[in-house]
Amino acid sequence: MSELHKFIFEGLPVRGMLVRLTDGWQQVLARRTEAGDAFAPPVRALLGEMAAAGVLMQSNLRFNGALVLQMFGDGPVKLAVAEIQDDLAFRVTAKVIGELSDGARLEAMLNLHGQGRCAITLDPKDKRPGQQPYQGVVALHGDRREPLQELAEVLEHYMLQSEQLDTRLILAANDEVAAGLLLQRLPVQGAANLQGAQRNEDLIGLDEAFNRLALLAGTLTRDELLTQDADTILHRLFWEEPLRRFAPLRGDEGPRFACSCTRLRVGSMLKSLGRDEIDGIVREQGRVEIGCDFCGLKYRFDPVDVGELFTPIGQQAPGSATTQ
Ligand SMILES: [Zn+2]
Repeated sequence: MSELHKFIFEGLPVRGMLVRLTDGWQQVLARRTEAGDAFAPPVRALLGEMAAAGVLMQSNLRFNGALVLQMFGDGPVKLAVAEIQDDLAFRVTAKVIGELSDGARLEAMLNLHGQGRCAITLDPKDKRPGQQPYQGVVALHGDRREPLQELAEVLEHYMLQSEQLDTRLILAANDEVAAGLLLQRLPVQGAANLQGAQRNEDLIGLDEAFNRLALLAGTLTRDELLTQDADTILHRLFWEEPLRRFAPLRGDEGPRFACSCTRLRVGSMLKSLGRDEIDGIVREQGRVEIGCDFCGLKYRFDPVDVGELFTPIGQQAPGSATTQ
């Protein structure tokens, strides 16, 4: 079962989390395969890492709304998306045009011409009128313009830029498991406004405890992350450290696959295309069929459904289908 483990180190300004997505992740891939539209292996690995990273970032922020991690590419992968709700329900998808070699890494997938971007959007649940979601964007290269090949490096960079906090992230995914380990230096509490006090920015890279723990975390191989359970990994890395663990989040409380698509939303999308456009499709194909990019569910609208879509509420026939 998928699970999320949170932990701290007693007396040290460092916290951490370990996520393993198993059943939910396998479900995502199975749906895609059933739909006859399986992603190429490197895209599967990327999406798995994005799902794991998204869950870690969402629970790290405790944000009331959806966290959307997007990769915009100038290579064969045009777009990859992982969306994680505040209850840790996740869904992922990608838009790929063209061929990819099995060993393709970030640059070959998304950053062929140096224009690839990674965006993190926080979309609050209860938006005030006119309130825009918060979005942060980073390029897919390092400080010396070198192209980054790992999603983990891109996100470490993002966290440093956006939160001024040292972060160590290790991610890995295959077709069975998508997993991640996050270590983060805790912000200085309440000292930020005092004259001469240390600021978070001043501590970047300098906290001894964080550096030691990050070094230990860095010895974790992808293979271990994918094949070992959380107890084994945390013991193997931190057995000499004052590790305090919290009850893992699993099942309904933990990370799991769920799609938020509804017939109602697909209907409003069709409406926004306009009556002429939709009638044209119905004339050609007899109906409109839209598949959800995230879960593969097919929504079909026959001529009667289409008629109802464009009929103002109140004028619809009694008992007409407006199920969601
Ligand atoms: Zn869906």
